[in-house]
Amino acid sequence: MTPFTYSRPTDVATALREHAAGGPAQFIAGGTNLLDLMKYDVERPMRLIDVTHLPGLGDIEEVEGGLRLGALTTNSQVAYDARVQQRYPLLSSTILAGATPQLRNAATTGGNCLQRTRCYYFYDAATPCNKREPGTGCPAIGGVNRIHAILGTSEHCIATNPSDMCVALAALAATVRVTGQDGERAIPFAEFHRLPGDEPQRDTTLRPDELILSVDLPAEDFGQHYTYLKLRDRASYAFALVSAAVALQMDGGTIKQARLALGGVAHKPWRDEEAEDLLRGKQPGTDAFEAVADHVLRDAKGYSHNAFKIPLARRVIVRALSQAAAGTPQSQSDKRIR
Ligand code: SF4
Repeated sequence: MTPFTYSRPTDVATALREHAAGGPAQFIAGGTNLLDLMKYDVERPMRLIDVTHLPGLGDIEEVEGGLRLGALTTNSQVAYDARVQQRYPLLSSTILAGATPQLRNAATTGGNCLQRTRCYYFYDAATPCNKREPGTGCPAIGGVNRIHAILGTSEHCIATNPSDMCVALAALAATVRVTGQDGERAIPFAEFHRLPGDEPQRDTTLRPDELILSVDLPAEDFGQHYTYLKLRDRASYAFALVSAAVALQMDGGTIKQARLALGGVAHKPWRDEEAEDLLRGKQPGTDAFEAVADHVLRDAKGYSHNAFKIPLARRVIVRALSQAAAGTPQSQSDKRIR
Protein backbone atom coordinates (compact mmCIF):
# COMPACT_ATOMS: atom_id res chain seq x y z
CA MET A 1 0.00 0.00 0.00
CA THR A 2 1.28 3.46 -0.90
CA PRO A 3 2.03 5.77 2.07
CA PHE A 4 -0.54 8.53 2.55
CA THR A 5 -1.26 11.48 4.81
CA TYR A 6 -4.48 11.77 6.78
CA SER A 7 -6.49 14.85 7.75
CA ARG A 8 -9.87 15.37 9.39
CA PRO A 9 -11.38 18.76 8.50
CA THR A 10 -14.43 20.00 10.38
CA ASP A 11 -16.08 22.10 7.67
CA VAL A 12 -16.87 21.53 4.00
CA ALA A 13 -14.87 24.50 2.69
CA THR A 14 -11.71 23.23 4.37
CA ALA A 15 -12.32 19.71 3.06
CA LEU A 16 -12.63 21.00 -0.50
CA ARG A 17 -9.56 23.20 -0.11
CA GLU A 18 -7.47 20.33 1.24
CA HIS A 19 -8.66 18.07 -1.56
CA ALA A 20 -7.61 20.63 -4.20
CA ALA A 21 -4.21 21.25 -2.59
CA GLY A 22 -2.28 19.00 -5.00
CA GLY A 23 -1.35 15.34 -5.36
CA PRO A 24 -3.80 12.44 -5.60
CA ALA A 25 -6.38 12.80 -2.81
CA GLN A 26 -9.50 10.91 -1.79
CA PHE A 27 -12.34 11.76 0.55
CA ILE A 28 -12.99 8.90 2.96
CA ALA A 29 -16.00 8.17 5.20
CA GLY A 30 -16.93 4.55 6.04
CA GLY A 31 -14.03 3.32 3.89
CA THR A 32 -15.70 -0.05 3.29
CA ASN A 33 -14.69 -0.05 -0.38
CA LEU A 34 -11.84 2.46 -0.55
CA LEU A 35 -9.66 0.71 2.05
CA ASP A 36 -10.00 -2.60 0.17
CA LEU A 37 -8.99 -0.86 -3.04
CA MET A 38 -5.97 0.68 -1.34
CA LYS A 39 -4.87 -2.68 0.07
CA TYR A 40 -5.15 -4.20 -3.41
CA ASP A 41 -3.07 -1.30 -4.80
CA VAL A 42 -5.93 -0.28 -7.08
CA GLU A 43 -6.39 3.14 -5.47
CA ARG A 44 -3.21 4.97 -4.50
CA PRO A 45 -4.15 8.29 -2.87
CA MET A 46 -1.30 10.26 -1.36
CA ARG A 47 -3.73 12.08 0.92
CA LEU A 48 -6.87 10.84 2.66
CA ILE A 49 -9.34 13.49 3.77
CA ASP A 50 -11.69 12.09 6.38
CA VAL A 51 -15.11 13.73 5.97
CA THR A 52 -16.82 12.02 8.89
CA HIS A 53 -16.55 15.13 11.07
CA LEU A 54 -18.21 17.51 8.60
CA PRO A 55 -21.33 18.94 10.24
CA GLY A 56 -24.88 18.42 8.98
CA LEU A 57 -24.25 15.46 6.67
CA GLY A 58 -25.30 12.69 9.03
CA ASP A 59 -29.02 13.46 9.27
CA ILE A 60 -32.22 12.45 7.50
CA GLU A 61 -34.38 15.54 6.99
CA GLU A 62 -37.79 16.40 5.52
CA VAL A 63 -37.30 18.51 2.39
CA GLU A 64 -40.14 19.59 0.07
CA GLY A 65 -42.32 16.62 0.97
CA GLY A 66 -39.48 14.17 0.38
CA LEU A 67 -36.47 13.09 2.41
CA ARG A 68 -32.89 14.32 2.30
CA LEU A 69 -30.39 11.59 3.19
CA GLY A 70 -27.16 13.22 4.34
CA ALA A 71 -24.09 11.81 2.63
CA LEU A 72 -22.78 10.50 5.97
CA THR A 73 -25.95 8.67 6.99
CA THR A 74 -25.09 5.01 7.34
CA ASN A 75 -26.81 2.31 5.34
CA SER A 76 -28.28 0.91 8.59
CA GLN A 77 -29.51 4.32 9.70
CA VAL A 78 -31.38 4.79 6.40
CA ALA A 79 -32.71 1.24 6.17
CA TYR A 80 -34.24 1.36 9.67
CA ASP A 81 -35.47 4.96 9.64
CA ALA A 82 -39.22 4.86 10.27
CA ARG A 83 -39.92 7.45 7.55
CA VAL A 84 -37.88 5.50 5.00
CA GLN A 85 -39.55 2.24 5.97
CA GLN A 86 -43.01 3.76 5.65
CA ARG A 87 -42.60 5.99 2.60
CA TYR A 88 -39.69 4.41 0.71
CA PRO A 89 -39.74 0.73 1.71
CA LEU A 90 -38.15 -0.14 -1.63
CA LEU A 91 -35.01 1.72 -0.55
CA SER A 92 -34.95 0.03 2.83
CA SER A 93 -35.37 -3.35 1.15
CA THR A 94 -32.47 -2.84 -1.27
CA ILE A 95 -30.12 -1.76 1.51
CA LEU A 96 -30.98 -4.79 3.64
CA ALA A 97 -30.32 -7.05 0.62
CA GLY A 98 -26.72 -5.87 0.48
CA ALA A 99 -23.50 -6.63 2.38
CA THR A 100 -23.69 -7.56 6.08
CA PRO A 101 -25.00 -5.79 9.21
CA GLN A 102 -21.45 -4.83 10.19
CA LEU A 103 -20.73 -3.31 6.78
CA ARG A 104 -24.10 -1.54 6.67
CA ASN A 105 -23.31 0.04 10.04
CA ALA A 106 -20.14 1.61 8.58
CA ALA A 107 -20.99 2.24 4.92
CA THR A 108 -22.50 5.62 4.08
CA THR A 109 -25.06 6.88 1.58
CA GLY A 110 -22.44 8.94 -0.27
CA GLY A 111 -19.94 6.09 -0.30
CA ASN A 112 -22.49 3.59 -1.55
CA CYS A 113 -23.09 5.82 -4.58
CA LEU A 114 -19.36 5.73 -5.31
CA GLN A 115 -18.53 2.07 -4.73
CA ARG A 116 -16.62 0.56 -7.57
CA THR A 117 -17.11 -2.55 -9.66
CA ARG A 118 -16.25 -5.99 -8.32
CA CYS A 119 -14.76 -7.12 -11.65
CA TYR A 120 -12.03 -9.64 -10.75
CA TYR A 121 -9.51 -8.10 -13.14
CA PHE A 122 -10.07 -4.61 -11.78
CA TYR A 123 -8.97 -5.83 -8.33
CA ASP A 124 -5.95 -7.72 -9.66
CA ALA A 125 -3.23 -5.10 -10.18
CA ALA A 126 -1.13 -7.72 -12.02
CA THR A 127 -3.57 -7.81 -14.96
CA PRO A 128 -4.46 -5.17 -17.57
CA CYS A 129 -7.72 -3.27 -17.04
CA ASN A 130 -9.03 -0.22 -18.88
CA LYS A 131 -10.87 0.99 -15.81
CA ARG A 132 -7.80 0.81 -13.58
CA GLU A 133 -5.25 1.81 -16.23
CA PRO A 134 -6.87 3.28 -19.36
CA GLY A 135 -5.59 1.88 -22.62
CA THR A 136 -4.31 -1.42 -21.26
CA GLY A 137 -7.27 -3.53 -22.44
CA CYS A 138 -10.20 -5.44 -21.02
CA PRO A 139 -9.36 -9.08 -20.25
CA ALA A 140 -12.92 -9.72 -19.04
CA ILE A 141 -14.30 -9.55 -22.59
CA GLY A 142 -12.50 -12.71 -23.67
CA GLY A 143 -11.93 -14.06 -20.18
CA VAL A 144 -13.96 -14.93 -17.11
CA ASN A 145 -17.07 -12.78 -17.28
CA ARG A 146 -19.83 -14.57 -15.39
CA ILE A 147 -20.63 -11.53 -13.22
CA HIS A 148 -20.33 -8.97 -16.00
CA ALA A 149 -22.75 -6.74 -17.87
CA ILE A 150 -25.26 -7.59 -20.58
CA LEU A 151 -26.56 -4.06 -21.22
CA GLY A 152 -24.78 -0.84 -22.14
CA THR A 153 -21.34 -2.41 -22.51
CA SER A 154 -18.54 -1.07 -24.68
CA GLU A 155 -15.52 -2.62 -26.37
CA HIS A 156 -13.50 -1.07 -23.54
CA CYS A 157 -15.31 -2.38 -20.45
CA ILE A 158 -18.14 -4.75 -19.51
CA ALA A 159 -18.10 -4.18 -15.74
CA THR A 160 -21.22 -3.89 -13.58
CA ASN A 161 -22.11 -1.48 -10.81
CA PRO A 162 -22.33 -3.57 -7.61
CA SER A 163 -24.71 -1.44 -5.52
CA ASP A 164 -28.16 -2.60 -4.38
CA MET A 165 -29.11 0.72 -2.82
CA CYS A 166 -28.44 2.58 -6.06
CA VAL A 167 -30.93 0.40 -7.94
CA ALA A 168 -33.70 1.73 -5.68
CA LEU A 169 -32.40 5.29 -5.90
CA ALA A 170 -32.60 5.03 -9.70
CA ALA A 171 -36.13 3.66 -9.56
CA LEU A 172 -37.19 6.36 -7.09
CA ALA A 173 -35.70 9.15 -9.26
CA ALA A 174 -33.49 10.49 -6.47
CA THR A 175 -31.17 13.47 -6.88
CA VAL A 176 -27.54 13.65 -5.80
CA ARG A 177 -26.63 17.04 -4.30
CA VAL A 178 -22.91 17.81 -4.58
CA THR A 179 -20.56 20.71 -3.93
CA GLY A 180 -17.17 21.65 -5.34
CA GLN A 181 -14.95 24.58 -6.24
CA ASP A 182 -17.71 25.93 -8.54
CA GLY A 183 -20.43 25.64 -5.91
CA GLU A 184 -23.37 23.31 -5.42
CA ARG A 185 -25.30 21.43 -8.09
CA ALA A 186 -27.93 18.70 -8.22
CA ILE A 187 -27.45 15.63 -10.42
CA PRO A 188 -30.50 13.51 -11.35
CA PHE A 189 -29.73 9.95 -10.30
CA ALA A 190 -30.12 8.65 -13.86
CA GLU A 191 -27.24 10.94 -14.86
CA PHE A 192 -25.00 10.26 -11.87
CA HIS A 193 -23.57 6.89 -12.97
CA ARG A 194 -22.17 6.49 -16.48
CA LEU A 195 -21.95 3.79 -19.09
CA PRO A 196 -18.33 2.82 -19.84
CA GLY A 197 -18.10 4.10 -23.43
CA ASP A 198 -14.49 4.93 -24.21
CA GLU A 199 -13.79 6.26 -20.71
CA PRO A 200 -14.43 3.26 -18.43
CA GLN A 201 -12.18 4.78 -15.78
CA ARG A 202 -15.01 7.24 -15.01
CA ASP A 203 -17.79 5.58 -13.01
CA THR A 204 -19.83 8.73 -12.40
CA THR A 205 -20.35 12.30 -13.56
CA LEU A 206 -19.03 13.62 -10.25
CA ARG A 207 -16.17 16.03 -10.96
CA PRO A 208 -12.81 15.26 -9.34
CA ASP A 209 -13.09 18.17 -6.89
CA GLU A 210 -16.69 17.50 -5.86
CA LEU A 211 -18.07 16.07 -2.62
CA ILE A 212 -21.51 14.48 -2.22
CA LEU A 213 -23.66 16.37 0.32
CA SER A 214 -26.88 14.38 0.19
CA VAL A 215 -29.16 12.12 -1.79
CA ASP A 216 -32.65 13.61 -2.02
CA LEU A 217 -35.76 11.47 -2.40
CA PRO A 218 -38.72 13.17 -4.09
CA ALA A 219 -42.22 13.03 -2.62
CA GLU A 220 -43.69 9.92 -4.24
CA ASP A 221 -46.27 7.37 -3.24
CA PHE A 222 -44.60 4.01 -3.68
CA GLY A 223 -45.18 2.70 -0.17
CA GLN A 224 -47.56 -0.18 -0.98
CA HIS A 225 -46.62 -1.86 -4.25
CA TYR A 226 -42.90 -2.45 -4.41
CA THR A 227 -40.30 -5.19 -4.35
CA TYR A 228 -36.56 -5.72 -4.59
CA LEU A 229 -35.81 -9.13 -6.04
CA LYS A 230 -32.11 -10.02 -5.94
CA LEU A 231 -30.69 -13.21 -7.39
CA ARG A 232 -27.17 -14.14 -6.31
CA ASP A 233 -24.93 -17.14 -5.79
CA ARG A 234 -25.60 -17.42 -2.05
CA ALA A 235 -28.33 -16.09 0.22
CA SER A 236 -26.34 -13.32 1.88
CA TYR A 237 -23.16 -11.27 1.48
CA ALA A 238 -23.07 -11.66 -2.28
CA PHE A 239 -23.50 -9.20 -5.11
CA ALA A 240 -26.45 -9.46 -7.47
CA LEU A 241 -26.18 -11.55 -10.60
CA VAL A 242 -29.43 -9.86 -11.57
CA SER A 243 -31.74 -7.77 -9.43
CA ALA A 244 -34.88 -5.73 -10.03
CA ALA A 245 -36.32 -2.84 -8.05
CA VAL A 246 -39.97 -2.24 -8.86
CA ALA A 247 -42.36 0.39 -7.52
CA LEU A 248 -45.93 0.75 -8.74
CA GLN A 249 -48.82 3.06 -8.08
CA MET A 250 -52.08 1.18 -8.53
CA ASP A 251 -55.52 2.62 -9.27
CA GLY A 252 -57.81 -0.23 -8.39
CA GLY A 253 -56.66 -3.05 -10.66
CA THR A 254 -54.79 -0.78 -13.07
CA ILE A 255 -51.17 0.36 -13.02
CA LYS A 256 -51.14 4.15 -12.77
CA GLN A 257 -47.37 4.63 -12.62
CA ALA A 258 -44.44 2.22 -12.78
CA ARG A 259 -40.78 2.34 -11.93
CA LEU A 260 -38.36 -0.44 -12.85
CA ALA A 261 -34.59 -0.56 -12.47
CA LEU A 262 -32.18 -3.49 -12.76
CA GLY A 263 -28.96 -4.21 -10.90
CA GLY A 264 -26.09 -6.54 -11.80
CA VAL A 265 -26.56 -6.09 -15.54
CA ALA A 266 -24.82 -2.83 -16.47
CA HIS A 267 -22.17 -0.25 -15.57
CA LYS A 268 -24.98 1.73 -13.90
CA PRO A 269 -28.36 0.93 -12.38
CA TRP A 270 -30.43 0.23 -15.49
CA ARG A 271 -33.68 2.16 -15.56
CA ASP A 272 -35.78 2.06 -18.75
CA GLU A 273 -38.46 4.75 -18.80
CA GLU A 274 -39.87 3.51 -22.13
CA ALA A 275 -40.53 0.14 -20.53
CA GLU A 276 -42.16 1.85 -17.56
CA ASP A 277 -44.48 3.72 -19.96
CA LEU A 278 -45.58 0.39 -21.44
CA LEU A 279 -47.10 -0.48 -18.06
CA ARG A 280 -49.12 2.68 -17.57
CA GLY A 281 -52.86 1.95 -17.76
CA LYS A 282 -52.30 -1.81 -17.99
CA GLN A 283 -53.78 -4.54 -15.84
CA PRO A 284 -51.10 -6.59 -14.07
CA GLY A 285 -50.48 -9.89 -15.85
CA THR A 286 -47.83 -12.17 -17.25
CA ASP A 287 -48.32 -11.08 -20.87
CA ALA A 288 -47.86 -7.39 -20.03
CA PHE A 289 -44.89 -8.10 -17.79
CA GLU A 290 -43.17 -10.33 -20.37
CA ALA A 291 -43.60 -7.60 -23.00
CA VAL A 292 -41.90 -5.14 -20.64
CA ALA A 293 -39.07 -7.59 -19.96
CA ASP A 294 -38.53 -8.12 -23.69
CA HIS A 295 -38.40 -4.35 -24.19
CA VAL A 296 -35.88 -3.81 -21.39
CA LEU A 297 -33.66 -6.58 -22.76
CA ARG A 298 -34.02 -5.76 -26.46
CA ASP A 299 -30.33 -4.84 -26.82
CA ALA A 300 -28.92 -7.27 -24.25
CA LYS A 301 -25.70 -9.00 -25.27
CA GLY A 302 -24.16 -11.99 -23.51
CA TYR A 303 -20.49 -12.97 -23.37
CA SER A 304 -18.89 -16.39 -22.99
CA HIS A 305 -19.92 -16.97 -19.36
CA ASN A 306 -22.79 -14.59 -18.68
CA ALA A 307 -25.35 -15.18 -21.45
CA PHE A 308 -27.47 -16.93 -18.81
CA LYS A 309 -28.19 -13.49 -17.36
CA ILE A 310 -30.48 -12.60 -20.28
CA PRO A 311 -33.19 -15.22 -19.62
CA LEU A 312 -32.56 -14.83 -15.89
CA ALA A 313 -33.20 -11.09 -16.10
CA ARG A 314 -36.39 -11.72 -18.07
CA ARG A 315 -37.72 -13.96 -15.32
CA VAL A 316 -36.59 -11.58 -12.57
CA ILE A 317 -38.43 -8.67 -14.21
CA VAL A 318 -41.66 -10.66 -14.58
CA ARG A 319 -41.52 -12.01 -11.05
CA ALA A 320 -40.62 -8.66 -9.47
CA LEU A 321 -43.46 -6.91 -11.30
CA SER A 322 -45.86 -9.67 -10.20
CA GLN A 323 -44.75 -9.35 -6.55
CA ALA A 324 -45.07 -5.58 -6.59
CA ALA A 325 -48.49 -5.61 -8.24
CA ALA A 326 -49.75 -8.12 -5.69
CA GLY A 327 -48.32 -6.09 -2.80
CA THR A 328 -46.19 -9.03 -1.67
CA PRO A 329 -42.62 -7.68 -1.60
CA GLN A 330 -39.62 -9.96 -1.44
CA SER A 331 -38.61 -10.21 2.22
CA GLN A 332 -35.06 -9.26 3.18
CA SER A 333 -33.25 -10.19 6.36
CA ASP A 334 -33.96 -7.67 9.11
CA LYS A 335 -31.44 -9.01 11.61
CA ARG A 336 -29.70 -6.09 13.29
CA ILE A 337 -26.46 -5.59 15.11
CA ARG A 338 -26.66 -2.54 17.35
FE1 SF4 B 1 -11.39 -3.64 -16.31
FE2 SF4 B 1 -13.92 -3.13 -17.01
FE3 SF4 B 1 -12.60 -4.98 -18.29
FE4 SF4 B 1 -13.24 -5.41 -15.75
S1 SF4 B 1 -14.67 -5.21 -17.42
S2 SF4 B 1 -11.26 -5.84 -16.76
S3 SF4 B 1 -13.16 -3.32 -14.93
S4 SF4 B 1 -12.08 -2.80 -18.24
